Amino acid sequence: MKNVRVRFAPSPTGFLHIGGLRTALFNYLFAKKHGGTFILRIEDTDAARYVPESLANIIEALQWYGLIWDEGPDPLDPFEKSIGDAGPYIQSKRKKIYQTHVSELLERSAAYPCFCTTERLDSLRKKQASEKQTPRYDGLCRALNPSEVKSRLVSGTSHTIRLRVPTEGSLTFRDMIRGEVTFECATIDDQVLLKSDGFPTYHLANVVDDHLMNISHVIRAEEWLPSTPKHILLYKALEWTPPFFAHLPMILGSDRTKLSKRHGAEPALEYRQRGFLPQAVINYIALLGWNPGGDREFFTLNQLTNGFSIEKVNKAPSIFDIQKMRWTNASYLRTMEPNRLAPFARKFVTDKEISDEKLANLLVSIRDRIETLEEIGEWGSYFFQKDIAYDPALLIPAPGTKETALVALIFVSEVLEKMNDEDFTEPVLRDLFVNRIKSSGKKNGEILWPLRVAISGKKASPDVFAMMAVLGREVITQRVATALILAQGLKKA
Ligand code: GLU
Repeated sequence: MKNVRVRFAPSPTGFLHIGGLRTALFNYLFAKKHGGTFILRIEDTDAARYVPESLANIIEALQWYGLIWDEGPDPLDPFEKSIGDAGPYIQSKRKKIYQTHVSELLERSAAYPCFCTTERLDSLRKKQASEKQTPRYDGLCRALNPSEVKSRLVSGTSHTIRLRVPTEGSLTFRDMIRGEVTFECATIDDQVLLKSDGFPTYHLANVVDDHLMNISHVIRAEEWLPSTPKHILLYKALEWTPPFFAHLPMILGSDRTKLSKRHGAEPALEYRQRGFLPQAVINYIALLGWNPGGDREFFTLNQLTNGFSIEKVNKAPSIFDIQKMRWTNASYLRTMEPNRLAPFARKFVTDKEISDEKLANLLVSIRDRIETLEEIGEWGSYFFQKDIAYDPALLIPAPGTKETALVALIFVSEVLEKMNDEDFTEPVLRDLFVNRIKSSGKKNGEILWPLRVAISGKKASPDVFAMMAVLGREVITQRVATALILAQGLKKA
């Protein structure tokens, strides 16, 4: 495929969500797969719905997930600077461009001015609703004679510009995911292209920019499918060749309703706060709607790129499953190089002084138990709390006697006494303790239960030997000594 240029074109009307992230990802994958260009364009023509923080959020989220655009607003100064030659990539900066094209459409009679007031349009809509008709413009101004139009324009009557949609016939185009799609022209509204304040609507700006930015493939959410015939009519009217279209299936919640917070869906960047790894989220999101074939589940961004094909995107909606995403994240936590994991984990640990090496060891000791980095605090508390506090009764292995705890801790102290700092690695500790327990005729549980509590203060903790290796000889010896005192107290009680 030659000269692939695709764009992700969010409107800054809110934070980037899972759906938007997937659209961005599929555009990115398609571009990279075909050696093309991935463009970020900001569609901010709807001033009323503009949310100021959303542009920064979109930029930060795309960057965090590694979906770096080749052309688009410069992240360092997005409103003023662009990367690439087809800019500006923010539509509010391109107002004049759209107006030129509207003049062209008017000259060709492909569009017409509409002088209907908001009041008239409102009552028309109400009437249509009460008669159970699809709300649409009734074409009143379409039939005005040219001299009437001229005199109203000269007198400065407020107006919009509408697309003149054929009243009969049908329009067919090929969608790369859905195949042939046909719309009856009679069902297509005379879309407003330019608002009375001179601002373009989404439809006009979108088509003009896709053309001027040389977009080869439009890959976007399914909700835009009904807009596509209007866009194709615009391309025709302007004598431009339309790009190829691909409309991505919807993402629904587990109950097959619109995805929302109820389903665990958060703004995309929020998952950073929730202890997810960008790689894991990307991996999970890529499989929402795209079926790589086979049963492989884990892919790096590079592997996704190599394997991506838009034809393998499903038509049917996909279901967002937060549990599955947590599971994917857990798998990444378990398998990623500890050193690569540490930078993501750092913000979740209370001990800011912790060295990279220690942090990596700590992660190794707990990563089998956590699904997100947010859970480090819970499973890593053995490490972060200097003086762990617990109910001494916990030291008694169930079912056991108070003496068992005491005997076990004395046994452990004796083993520890003969050990050096160098012995404090997981395999050495495991070997030594398992052998000593065996030769003494005791049971693992009898010894390891009190030891686990002595170290972590909890019944459920990371592996005992992993914790010992992370904390080191001195801390372990001290925690066992404290437990011994507590166990003696228990005996007296
Ligand atoms: N601005 C539209 C949105 O927010 C883009 C639709 C399109 O890609 O054409 O989804």
